[in-house]
Amino acid sequence: MISADEARRIILEQAKPLGAEEIPLQNSLHRCLADRIAAPIDLPVFDNAAMDGFAVRSEDTQRASETSPVSFKIIGTIAAGDDVGAGFSRPGAGTAPLQPGHAIRIMTGAPIPAGADAVVPFEEWPISKSVPLGSNIRLAGEDVRKGEVVLQTGEKVTPRTIALLAALGLDRVAVFRRARVKIVSTGNELVPPGHPLSPGKIYNSNGPALSAALQEIGIVPIGIAAASDAPAVLKKAVSEGVAETDLLITVGGISAGDFDLVPRILQEIGAKIIFHKVAIKPGKPLLFAAFEKKLIFGLPGNPVSALMVFDRFVRPALLKMMGSPVHGRPGRRAVAEEALKGTKGKEDYLRGIVQYREGAFFARSAGPQGSAQLATLARANATLIVPAAKERIASGETVEFEFFSEGL
Ligand code: AMP
Ligand code: MG
Repeated sequence: MISADEARRIILEQAKPLGAEEIPLQNSLHRCLADRIAAPIDLPVFDNAAMDGFAVRSEDTQRASETSPVSFKIIGTIAAGDDVGAGFSRPGAGTAPLQPGHAIRIMTGAPIPAGADAVVPFEEWPISKSVPLGSNIRLAGEDVRKGEVVLQTGEKVTPRTIALLAALGLDRVAVFRRARVKIVSTGNELVPPGHPLSPGKIYNSNGPALSAALQEIGIVPIGIAAASDAPAVLKKAVSEGVAETDLLITVGGISAGDFDLVPRILQEIGAKIIFHKVAIKPGKPLLFAAFEKKLIFGLPGNPVSALMVFDRFVRPALLKMMGSPVHGRPGRRAVAEEALKGTKGKEDYLRGIVQYREGAFFARSAGPQGSAQLATLARANATLIVPAAKERIASGETVEFEFFSEGL
């Protein structure tokens, strides 16, 4: 049985970035850039006013004082969007640079007319002290120079980066393709939520849960199929699933039960099983396989195991495939508020509640830790990690954790 670290290493080695596609900027939120981006223009595009006020020649203000403010002849107004050409050209007065002793009303974002080299806010008018050169002027290119690389390959598109790209005039962007993923839940016992339960049956919770976990990283699964444990049905679902996807997730049927047929079926269709069983709890039966370039994860059926294993092993693979240079969540440390029980020789993932109080994180168990206990899972906000070498973390000791919601 391999360790959690070894499993993660093998998975990340197999997970290769998918190709790129060009998409509208508007649809690119949370995607990873497939190319670095060089600015096609300067930002600001032209010298412009940072305040509503008057454009002046700073030289004209040098003798201003409290007792004798300088006066100016106000020769017009420039609004944002106006074209000032080679100089001030509104209202229809030619394009000569601003003359000594003249000032122009100017609005925030309006271009600075030739000759002017400072803007004095309305609040500081009339001018009673000298105005330094360049005051309240945003210079062309001071934010971004044309040709400068502003974003690197792999960077995730956020509302902040969209602001920059849109300001640069870009309406399309090259990003890594999203992974095509399908979830095949296995088990004769499964009934979709919303339908009546007959004796012996349970609701399929893994399908919807994993679909939601995929959506958190921007993937809408191409299907959530449920297959019975009949070999022919399962084989058809798995081989179709492999054909349609970049990464197939099967759930259930990988343990030691009489009807745990997934490993055998994967072998029958020609998939290569890379590992089966990892020293983790929950999720020990985890299976990882490949079929040509496609990856296959066999997740255990117990609902807590399925989601936990997805979070810790499948999600990083998908993030890497979709071009993200960061595959894990930020690792954090908390003070254990109570003793936390692990299993010797296995990396334990406890469902925990972590709170921030007075400058530190404090962690406790969210409740009973059985791998089928969904109420505990739903209450938890973090995974508490008890390393394989430890059987127990004592109250007051440090525990590593990851917030579920962080680094989406
Ligand atoms: P298995 O891994 O197939 O042996 O299943 C382990 C446990 O998880 C059994 O109690 C199953 O009934 C349960 N289980 C398997 N698949 C699902 C599912 N999709 N939704 C909810 N429970 C499941
Ligand atoms: Mg089963």
